[in-house]
Amino acid sequence: MPTLLERGAFKNVPRELWLSYSWQIQNRIKTAKELSQYIDLTKEELSGINLTKGLYPMAITPYYLSLIDPEDINDPIRLQAIPREVEVSSCQELGEENPFREESEVLGLTHRYPDRVLLNLTSFCAVYCRHCMRKRIFAGGESSKTREEIDSWLRYIREQDSIRDVLISGGEPLSVGIEKLEYLLSGLREIKHVETIRFGSRLLVLCPQRFFDKEILNLLEKYSPIWINTHFNHPREITELTSLAVENLLRAGVPVNNQTVLLKGVNDSPEVMLELFRVLLRIKVRPIYLFHCDPIKGAIHFRTSIEKGLEIMRFLRGKLPGMGIPTYALDLPGGRGKIALSPNYIKEQDGNRFLFESPFGEVVEYEVFEI
Ligand code: SF4
Repeated sequence: MPTLLERGAFKNVPRELWLSYSWQIQNRIKTAKELSQYIDLTKEELSGINLTKGLYPMAITPYYLSLIDPEDINDPIRLQAIPREVEVSSCQELGEENPFREESEVLGLTHRYPDRVLLNLTSFCAVYCRHCMRKRIFAGGESSKTREEIDSWLRYIREQDSIRDVLISGGEPLSVGIEKLEYLLSGLREIKHVETIRFGSRLLVLCPQRFFDKEILNLLEKYSPIWINTHFNHPREITELTSLAVENLLRAGVPVNNQTVLLKGVNDSPEVMLELFRVLLRIKVRPIYLFHCDPIKGAIHFRTSIEKGLEIMRFLRGKLPGMGIPTYALDLPGGRGKIALSPNYIKEQDGNRFLFESPFGEVVEYEVFEI
């Protein structure tokens, strides 16, 4: 069925405004009244928008909204963008706000693994995704860290010479003004032991127009090596504009990896996942993780069983090149780290003799000789 864009919902917006990041951000849809001009909201959504005010706010870029098929109440983009009553009703008793104990040390900094550190630079996002693992931070309003707070991060990182990798996240870190981003990046690049810098950014999905801007591309190129980890969950999120934005990033020397979250009703289907990973490879984005949905308060309704994730992984094997198959992983509670999950291909084992299941369902005998 046609999306809002295909139905001409935004045909009066001049092309240069549609392609402008700042126009998209300034014209985000934040109220039920604005949204009703485009979509007939269900009772569950109207109540959701009302009940989540001040707790888990709503904001949707016109671009991301334009990808929704308004006739389908379970459209995968609609489910990720428009609040539902279930976020604040029964699900409130389940899950935790911060099951991974982030931001435990220095002002929004998480140092769990010795070699890397996570910085949460801002609580602003272009779209507030309903399944977000950090939805706890949005109730406090939209703000980014001050220079003084950045200084305290830089001091901490300078003193910890085991840190080789810095992941800058949020919220949406690439929404922060160029001057502040440059202040942080130049500070990090002065620290000899920091080798790689990664941004956890969903702008390629929610507003790829950000990467039509020379200033941001030049900045990312200047402080290379910089990587982007993005977050596509459904093949319908990938458009011609996404592909152009990825090209611009690659030309600036920025590789893009993808982390999908397994979400009930959105992408808990082997065929949808296969299509998603195929299209990602086509636009030169590498799928690295498929995350099991975390037990986040207000997002429990998106969780599936682990069997569902394993079924999807089994389905993918043999249908995609290895670089298109992500690692299925889950985060252990209490900040105890990530683990990888895989279907079991060992049917039987007798010492060095194994019976394996092939990707085509055959049982194959395999013996290991060691000398
Ligand atoms: S863009 Fe990322 S951080 Fe922001 S709401 Fe969506 S998932 Fe959360």
